[in-house]
Order: sequence, then structure tokens, then C-alpha cells
Amino acid sequence: MTQKRVLITGAAGFLGSHLCDRFIKEGCQVIAMDNLITGDLRNIEHLFKLKEFEFYHHDVSKFVHVPGNLDYILHFASPASPIDYLKIPIQTLKVGSLGTHNLLGLAKAKNARILVASTSEVYGDPMVHPQTEDYWGNVNPVGPRGVYDEAKRFQEAITMAYHTYHGVETRIVRIFNTYGPRMRLNDGRVLPAFIGQALRGQDLTAFGDGSQTRSFCYVDDLVEGIYRLLLSDCATPVNVGNPDEITINDFAQEIIKLTGTNQKVIYKELPTDDPKQRQPDISKAREILGWEPKISRQEGLKITYEYFQSLPKERLYEEPHGRDFSQNIK
Ligand code: UDP
Repeated sequence: MTQKRVLITGAAGFLGSHLCDRFIKEGCQVIAMDNLITGDLRNIEHLFKLKEFEFYHHDVSKFVHVPGNLDYILHFASPASPIDYLKIPIQTLKVGSLGTHNLLGLAKAKNARILVASTSEVYGDPMVHPQTEDYWGNVNPVGPRGVYDEAKRFQEAITMAYHTYHGVETRIVRIFNTYGPRMRLNDGRVLPAFIGQALRGQDLTAFGDGSQTRSFCYVDDLVEGIYRLLLSDCATPVNVGNPDEITINDFAQEIIKLTGTNQKVIYKELPTDDPKQRQPDISKAREILGWEPKISRQEGLKITYEYFQSLPKERLYEEPHGRDFSQNIK
């Protein structure tokens, strides 16, 4: 991988920043791009001193220009938590559709291989369990989550079309719930929500009756799966996630035990179209990538909790970037 030039979009976000670290470690030149609406430069500030690293402040929904050659593009720009895409629904649709189109065009122009970040949300509230890649999903296109789910479904469709009709080398990863250091404490997702609540001495808010399930993958495992998929020859979608499924109630108890908080679990209304169960079937990733997760939830949660504990206390009370980011969208 030495000297390969890699463009990573959404580079200041949770997954994007970990991918920057990984590709720098592999000896690549990394061109990081982010519009900083949900991303945070603090996630990549340690890389700015490296000559192998460049940062472009740019919204990929607009034409993307990168000088010089490119070997790989990893498209990870998108709001990714339900409260984010409810706040900025149009932007969410645009980055998954127009943004993906721009990056596929760039991949074609540069003769680069592109990997796009898809999601378990393409399966919606799934009727098949665990979810295999050949399941077409159960998505409500006009519900509040539709802006994310349908943008990602369109992303998969246009990516396959560029592969089929233009011969672009494409890869599609379907990412299931992932956690780890650099998640935004207040992004509304269940893990930072629970840990933030425990650290602030608040009760943990489970939505609905807490019987819904998710399967949480530690970020380093995910990055390894993505890396292997990029280097594989598989153009069809591949699930990458940890099949260790747990109810939100049991997850809350794990967080209570981990943090030693005296708080209790309180119940709030279940968001519209919240999937009842989710677990990746990773047979395909096992077979073609020789990949499976290695880090247990116990181990991953410990590292993640230590990260959140190490942050300055004021970050516990920070609004996203200290402002309402929906004001920042044109
Ligand atoms: N959830 C919860 N309390 C919270 C935040 C989320 O019970 O404070 C639930 C949410 O309703 C969902 C699950 O946790 O069932 C995972 O939510 P998240 O937003 O992390 O991701 P999703 O998998 O729904 O995209």
C-alpha cells in the first residue's frame, strides 16, 4: 500500500478518522475531506503534522476536485445517527445521492477503486433475521429514517450501475452498529447516549420497552473488515458487523455495570420505524475476506468508556460543535 493515494470522505467523523489512521499506518498518502457539519477536526488533528496527510474542507454534494492521481476512494461522508439525519434530512439525501455520484465520477476519471459506506439500514425493520446480503429489506421510504435509508439504497444502486456500465472498480460495505472512541457524545446513538448519561449522573433513557436488539461491533474490527473488502475483488455488498446481538435493556445493564453509576433505566417513546431486531449474517465476509470480529463487547466497551472518561468534562455538555448545525446548511 506504500505511496498509494487515498481519498477519504467524512474523514473528520467517527469512522472516517479511524480509516485515516489505518491508511496512514499502511504507508498511504491520505487526502481527507469533510464539510465538518457532523465531523469534528479534533478527531484528526493529530494527523495534520504529517506530510502524508492533507485536509480539504469541502462538501462532496458539490463537484469534487482532487489534483493528481488517486488509487482508492472511501466514501464515508454522511450524517449517521437518527437525530442527525432528522435535523438535516435534505443534506443526508444529497450526500448519499449527489455526493456518491460525484465520487463515482471522480473514481472513473482517476481510474481509482471506490468503496462506499452502506448500512444495515438498507434492510429497514427487517423481516429476515439475521440479515443476509440477499435480503432486499423492509424500508419505509416516507418515514423519518427514509432520508438515510433511501439515500443509502440509491447509493448502492448507482454504485452498481457505475460498476456495470462504466467498469468502475467498486466495493459496497453494509455497516452494522459500530462503536468506539471518537463517537460524538451527543450524537443520540445509544452507546454515547448511555455513557454520557452515566458520566453526567443522569438516568439512562431506553426507548420503547427496550426489547429491541442491536449487534455492536468495535471500530477496529470494522476497519479491518473494510480494509480487506477494499483489497478484495468483490463488487457485491458485504455485511461487516459483529453478530453478538443484545437487547437495549441488557445493553443498558452492561453500561450501568461498566460505569458503576447509581442511576436507573427510564423509558421514553420509541422513535418511528425503529427496527425491532438487527444482527448481521457475516458468512459472506468470513468466506471471501477471511474476516470476523475479534474484540468482545466487554473489551471494546472498556476502551470506549476510558476514552469518554478522558475527555475534558465540558465536552459532556457540548452541543454538537457548540451550535445548532442545521443553521450551517445552505
Ligand atoms: N436507543 C435508546 N436510548 C437512547 C438512544 C437509542 O434506547 O438514548 C435505542 C434506539 O431506539 C434503537 C437502539 O437504541 O432501538 C439503537 O439506536 P441508535 O440510534 O444507536 O442506532 P440505530 O441502530 O437505531 O440506527
